[in-house]
Amino acid sequence: DVDSSAAATAIQAWKRQSRSATYGIRSHKSIREQRESLPVFAVRDQLLNIIKEHDMTVIVGETGSGKTTQITQYLAESGYGEKGIVACTQPRRVAAISVAKRVSEEVGCKLGDEVGYQIRFEDCTTTSTIIKYMTDGMLEREALVDPDMLKYSIIMLDEAHERTVATDVLFALLRDAVRRRKGSLKLIITSATLDSSKFSHYFDDCPVFHIEGRTFPVKIYYTKQPEKDYIEAAIDTVMDIHVSNPPGDILVFLTGREEIETCCETIVQKMSTLYKSDASVSELIVLPIYSAMPSEMQSRIFEPTPKGKRKVVIATNIAETSITIDGIYYVVDPGFVKVNAYDAKLGMDSLIVQPISKAQADQRSGRAGRTGPGICYRLYTKKAYEREMAANTVPEILRQNLSNTVLMLKAMGIEDVVHFGFMDRPKEQAILAALQELYILDALDSDGRLTRTGKYMSYFPMEPLMSKTMIQSVDFGCSYEVMVIIAMLSVPDVFYRPREQREKADKAKQQFDDYTGDHLTLLNVYEKWEDSEFSRTWCSDHYVHEKSMRKARDVKIQLGKIMGQLDRREGRRDSSIVSCKGDKEIIIKAFVSGYFKNCAKRVNNAGHYDEEGTFRTLVENTPVHIHPSSALFRKGGIDYVMYHTLILTNQEYMQCVTKIDARWLVKYAPRFYKQAAENELSLMKKREKIEPLWNRFDQGQEWRLSRGRR
Ligand code: ADP
Ligand code: MG
Repeated sequence: DVDSSAAATAIQAWKRQSRSATYGIRSHKSIREQRESLPVFAVRDQLLNIIKEHDMTVIVGETGSGKTTQITQYLAESGYGEKGIVACTQPRRVAAISVAKRVSEEVGCKLGDEVGYQIRFEDCTTTSTIIKYMTDGMLEREALVDPDMLKYSIIMLDEAHERTVATDVLFALLRDAVRRRKGSLKLIITSATLDSSKFSHYFDDCPVFHIEGRTFPVKIYYTKQPEKDYIEAAIDTVMDIHVSNPPGDILVFLTGREEIETCCETIVQKMSTLYKSDASVSELIVLPIYSAMPSEMQSRIFEPTPKGKRKVVIATNIAETSITIDGIYYVVDPGFVKVNAYDAKLGMDSLIVQPISKAQADQRSGRAGRTGPGICYRLYTKKAYEREMAANTVPEILRQNLSNTVLMLKAMGIEDVVHFGFMDRPKEQAILAALQELYILDALDSDGRLTRTGKYMSYFPMEPLMSKTMIQSVDFGCSYEVMVIIAMLSVPDVFYRPREQREKADKAKQQFDDYTGDHLTLLNVYEKWEDSEFSRTWCSDHYVHEKSMRKARDVKIQLGKIMGQLDRREGRRDSSIVSCKGDKEIIIKAFVSGYFKNCAKRVNNAGHYDEEGTFRTLVENTPVHIHPSSALFRKGGIDYVMYHTLILTNQEYMQCVTKIDARWLVKYAPRFYKQAAENELSLMKKREKIEPLWNRFDQGQEWRLSRGRR
């Protein structure tokens, strides 16, 4: 539904601008020079020719060679934007935003006009958008409503080596779409490193184009002994470099926000002591970068370092290939990364810190050799690199829970998910487990076909447990409240807890605490904020992050829109957004109908309910604790609870916890729980639980969960 006249005007404007940007008619000289100095510029015409002649092209080029920011512009400049949108996917949200911003500057337009971005719950595009950066997850969702991708003339799947689940699914979906659209849709696969023959073969033996990068040698140092505390080691290394090495910025790789913030704080502290004792020490600018960071902060990492100073950027693996920072001469690599993986002990996906692969280590060290000869300090031994690290990172699809993916494929009408054209096919076990989970959630019937509930669930860009809760809440008559709580659960923590004012902050939070637990506490916070007319001072007075709250309001609005679409599709006259007007039990029941797997009960060693006992999860029987931030922390009289997630710090914690009545589990999850004889709940035996699913499935072939029976 692109407004064609608006698009035409935009294209005109685009042409004027891009020409002036390319030929320097306007005052974008420095940007023009910068653009023309990138390795990809030298092969611009060659590249455009290959793309013109083939429906699919694989492009491999060193990080920083200009793939992400330039190729989309070349395509728009040579007319692809007139036939549809030029899309470029990114595995990470921050990268999509940051790159879109940069390209809008290069083009000279407002972000969201000719150049825009779209990520989950945030659409920064207009009818005049010609170049669109988006997360791979967003494009995957678009395939649900438009499998032929008719909006687009060309799609670039960027960062293909990251092999996220969404990118892997898009590999197969887009290959089919390109084959169907015969010449009117083109596909480009871009990456820093990849097995090019494998990719070429998969994409119908398409050509592989190499962009020769300009790189300088990087000297690599290893530690003699394994490091006990890699953060401490990283901090020491940074300090050493700053004090004794020639100018040049430093890039440090850590695994996540908390580590990065701690590291920044410590370096700042150490530096302030150092400045006092030695006036000759030059200034060290400390800059963090991670995904949940405010975008104003993010742009600071690209600002050139003032003369006589040094910059240290402390980043997650986003700086490995997605974002290139110029001027880096030193890389500090502790060798770890946080990945989303299925944790058998918890029975769910969770973020775990694990060693990087050799390919990642090489990418990281490569960051030091873009501007001149550099140095990489690897905080692990040479032996560890050579003998312990895997050669390549395992594609996400081989290690993650696939329920969400399977649900989407089913909603796209792909019945035979086992034989879906994945580049690397997941294990049968993993697909069967996903089918089982979806069956239990009532998203699939016993023949493995999508149910109405499943279809509705697929409309929501959320994990199945959440979308199930959202759908059920309509029947429970509390969809308004559930929408608010889900929105609050989808944003970074709303409670602000500065180190110096913890007690005050905790007191402020207690005012919101609901006796049933954290789900309703979140609702309280939102409603009080709404009562204050979304006031900023209210937030600071109550130790609440305003930014998170505003984000939650946006998510709520987006969810409302999806509900509206659902109503229209179903021909419903009345909105399905309804309020239960304070009936707390109903809200919790709605959550139980989705989150019944995430429950724990308090038991003693013999496995019986015990007021003094510890919590154990009902599914895996893992010991878990109520997180200290919970409204239920240290509260008595609780036997069963439901939680939103588990997090592992020094022990397993349940986060966002609410008291439940065990009987609700049997009532709202009859495919999962039954009343045990001794009147205690027990899990149904696995066999009984899943048997019906495999009756007729996969083109007559019989599937059984247990291997022995296949
Ligand atoms: P590739 O995708 O091949 O890794 P990019 O197109 O991302 O390369 O980067 C090309 C150049 O653009 C790099 O030199 C990078 O530093 C620069 N660049 C990218 N984003 C920004 C930004 N937000 N601000 C300034 N420079 C940027
Ligand atoms: Mg890139």
